[in-house]
Amino acid sequence: MRTLFGALQRIRRLRQHERWTRRQLDAFRTDALRQLRDYACARSPFYQQFHHGLTERPLRELPVLTKAMLMAHFDDLVTDRAVRLEAVRNHVAQSTDGGLFLDRYRVTATSGSSGRPGFFLFSEPEWLMVIASFARGQEWSGAKVSFLRRRRMATVASVSPWHMSSQVSATARTWWTPSIRLPASDSLERIVHRLNVWQPHQLIAYASMARILAAEQCAGRLHIFPEQVFVSSEVLTDETRRRAKEAWGDEPYNQYGATETADIAAEHHGCRRMHLFEDLVIAEAVDEQYRPVPPGEYGAKVLVTTLFSRTQPLIRYELDDCVRLSSEGCLCGLPFAVLDGIQGRVEDTLRLPAASGGRVTVEPLVFSEVMDVLPVSGWQVIHEADDSLTVLLSGVRDGFSGEALRGRLAQALAEHGASVSQVKVQQVPAIPKTSGGKAPLVTAHRGTGNSAR
Ligand SMILES: [Zn+2]
Repeated sequence: MRTLFGALQRIRRLRQHERWTRRQLDAFRTDALRQLRDYACARSPFYQQFHHGLTERPLRELPVLTKAMLMAHFDDLVTDRAVRLEAVRNHVAQSTDGGLFLDRYRVTATSGSSGRPGFFLFSEPEWLMVIASFARGQEWSGAKVSFLRRRRMATVASVSPWHMSSQVSATARTWWTPSIRLPASDSLERIVHRLNVWQPHQLIAYASMARILAAEQCAGRLHIFPEQVFVSSEVLTDETRRRAKEAWGDEPYNQYGATETADIAAEHHGCRRMHLFEDLVIAEAVDEQYRPVPPGEYGAKVLVTTLFSRTQPLIRYELDDCVRLSSEGCLCGLPFAVLDGIQGRVEDTLRLPAASGGRVTVEPLVFSEVMDVLPVSGWQVIHEADDSLTVLLSGVRDGFSGEALRGRLAQALAEHGASVSQVKVQQVPAIPKTSGGKAPLVTAHRGTGNSAR
């Protein structure tokens, strides 16, 4: 009960922040950042060294913290001297239910698909803030979080108990939301069957899965009537929005979160744009050399500073996401900046042969603009080791022409200065998923010279 009350308090506090002026928000952020930096330097031997002599320098002049550094200095970085990385590893290896570490810390882990997994610890006050951030993301769809109205929720995602959203739904399930979690890597028939039985009021899925489920609904195999659909982790294209609307009457709400932090941004029903949770996280869009990228342009990475982090302070921590901040404010009245583009880390930005020699970077959106208008239910572009592209298509309907597709792709690539040796088009029963159940739209095989993600 105490924790439930604590979460409610924070949800209410976050609601108040939404009515702040920009000036109030900036003052809060300045203060919260100072407190975080003071805390980190007082309690973390790592930060004492890392930020030595920089105490009075602005945030943008502090060094960037990578996952590799964080994991290499884990024991010194955390602010509780009783925490040891080895013990966290053992806990995650031995406990199958995602239980508390040292009876007081929630643990989340990155999948390790891009190297060794990272571990992240949250004390109870920190965890309540994470819960409040997710509640805010939900409320922004117009569905007020209420302990009186119990909505059934279904999540189709990774079922690792250490996934941030697993930990959040475990907490929510205990408190107020009857929910089921289906592995996105499961067979489509089984996912559809279980959703039909469960009849969720709210559906949460990777964007690629939402798109597949929308097709199932339109084909008459899936019969669910969610009031809201939330998607995350992958690029949400206009076409996926359109298909979900066709299936369920409304577009999905896009959300952006990270296992390392909390929810970072969410789409608001008032304006249908994503706003950053700037009272919880400072997010800097930067290029490959960590130089700031102006609003209106995509960065290569995001540096996040989690203002409420204390157990494991995150200050300018590097995430591999490409985001674009809007240069304009929003008329909806929220004081938070608009995030008007996001290309998640699941999608690979390809480094293709340039027509003029060398290599050129091609963003996933270049492909979705061509692929999304095809009469197919799913697609995936694979950059092969020999620099050719393989296009996988599922659920191909009448009116599809492989020749026309090859032509349009070649043209789109030429417009971006790229030229590939060959485009193979292959029809498949279903788009293959990663072990975590994601189906990235654009992916690169190892050995193609693309940056590892
Ligand atoms: Zn807005």
